[in-house]
Formats: sequence, structure tokens, C-alpha cells
Amino acid sequence: MSSFDAHVRGGLVTGVILSGGHFLLFPGYLDKIQLAAVCLLCTVGGILPDLDSDTGKPLAILSAVLSLIAPAFMLRFMEQYHPLTPEFLICYFVLAYGVIHYIVSGLVKKITVHRGIFHSIPFVMLCGIFAYFLFSPSGQHMATAAGVAVFAGGITHLVMDEIHSLSWSSGGLPRPNNYTGTALKFWAPSLFSTLIVYSLLIAAAFYLFKINQFFF
Ligand SMILES: [Zn+2]
Repeated sequence: MSSFDAHVRGGLVTGVILSGGHFLLFPGYLDKIQLAAVCLLCTVGGILPDLDSDTGKPLAILSAVLSLIAPAFMLRFMEQYHPLTPEFLICYFVLAYGVIHYIVSGLVKKITVHRGIFHSIPFVMLCGIFAYFLFSPSGQHMATAAGVAVFAGGITHLVMDEIHSLSWSSGGLPRPNNYTGTALKFWAPSLFSTLIVYSLLIAAAFYLFKINQFFF
């Protein structure tokens, strides 16, 4: 397993390549803030599979970030039900922080096993589609770039784990060991978690095609 810092660097490098490539191939489609966001999303994608990590560091960092960003994303919906007064905002953000940082994060820690379904291609695809939905208010181009960024960051993570799981004997060719094939895979040892992720992926892909009117 590559270290947390290595995955952050891996996601960031892929993000820079992706943002740079986008800037050169599609100039003017995304502004500077959006290109920076694509780079950051790729970095986040680069640590997502390690949410099941035994050390808990990626989960702690992501839940801290999400407990601030997720309620901020929801503000436009909350505004329809309650005016955004200072007293409402303080209760809203403290409650959201508590729910995400303690309840959701505790649940994820409890139900995941390291190198389980989070280290798989379908999970990374699901995260990419979710990013697309999250950024669709910013337009289809930004939403697609966000989805591709999270997916690319996740795949970078899985590839890095696979490379790290090879035994590199001095002067010889790399040899597979017990961890080979446990990251870049299409299913987990648990049939239940595999079925859940594939069900969510099919439902998300179906909705994605529907809103883009690919075949409806
Ligand atoms: Zn990993």
C-alpha cells in the first residue's frame, strides 16, 4: 500500500496533467477557478479508495473536509425552507459537522475492510458519476470535468497500490505477491458489498443517461 502522502501527490500530479490538458485542448471552456477545482477533485479522488484504510487518516481528513463542504453545497436548498439567519447557520453547520464527522464517519469505519470494495474500479466509477451530479449546477462541461477528475484520481490510486504490491527484487523483474490484484479489481471478496456498489452504479448510470437523454 502506498502512503497517504504518496496518494495525495499522485492525485495532484494527475490533476495537474488533467487540468493542463483540458486548458490546452479546450481553451476557454473552464475558467481558472474551475481548472483549479478539477485539480483538487482529482487529488480528492486520489485518496477516496483509502477511506477503508486501517490508519483512519484519509477518513478523518475527508470527513473533516466534507462536514464543511457538504452543508455549504446544501445551503441553496435549505434557503427554500428557512431564512439563512446567523442563528440558523450556526445550528445548521454544527449539526452537519456532528452528523458527518461522528455518525457517518464512524459508520464507514465500522463497516469497511481495507482493500475491500472501496479499492475497486466500480467504486471509483460511482464516485466519478456522483461528482458529475454534484457539479451539474455549474454546467455540463464542468460536471463532466469533475466526474472525469474524481475517476482519474481514483484510478491513479488503484494503479499506485498495484505497483506498490509488486515485489521488486534487485536487478530482476517485478513479481506478484499476496497483495497483487487487491486494488485494481472489479469486485470485492464480499459479495454483499460488491452487489451494493454495482446496484448503485447501475442506478447512477441509468439516471446519468436519463438526464442527458442518451437513449430516452
Ligand atoms: Zn489504497
